Amino acid sequence: MFIEPQIGQSDGKSNDRAGWIEVICGSMFSGKTEELIRRLNRAKIAGQKLEIFKPSIDTRYAEEEVVSHNANAVRSTPVEVAGEIPLLAAHCEVVGIDEAQFFDKGLLDVCVDLANSGKRVIIAGLDMDFAGKPFGPMPELMAVAEYVTKVHAICMSCGAVAHFSHRLSEEDQKVLLGEKDSYEPLCRTCYQRKK
Ligand code: ZN
Repeated sequence: MFIEPQIGQSDGKSNDRAGWIEVICGSMFSGKTEELIRRLNRAKIAGQKLEIFKPSIDTRYAEEEVVSHNANAVRSTPVEVAGEIPLLAAHCEVVGIDEAQFFDKGLLDVCVDLANSGKRVIIAGLDMDFAGKPFGPMPELMAVAEYVTKVHAICMSCGAVAHFSHRLSEEDQKVLLGEKDSYEPLCRTCYQRKK
């Protein structure tokens, strides 16, 4: 279980101390968003000001909510490009970012600047696309983060620990936004066999 570092006593001048970056990554059905929501809810209970952003491309469910697969919804703000985030997050102590793999590469500098200005930045996203390749800005974000948590799904074929998102559809489009009918989590052995 990931133990969050503590934000120090707030004196209203968060610029005096540096923040940090946390990345939560894994395959489809690994519980990334649930883990993001768990951390954000704890910060919220502690009275910390937070905002959650997601790329506007992620329109599977309600427009303004981060919705995990267990429908544990938290309000979020859809943004077109990562560059919109700093202004919208100016008043926050904690910044959550969901579906980070769909953001542009500008997300890297945005997150580093937010952390440098004293904010806790928590990023959730797919580490690999359906082809097993690093996805969007995720590898760079993992490199600069203080804390990286890989969460895992269970292999649909054999029950082992899974970290590949195998796509069942034939459409050759990386941004295909799928649910249970489009993807299945597989372990390395089963993924190799099926791809
Ligand atoms: Zn397997």
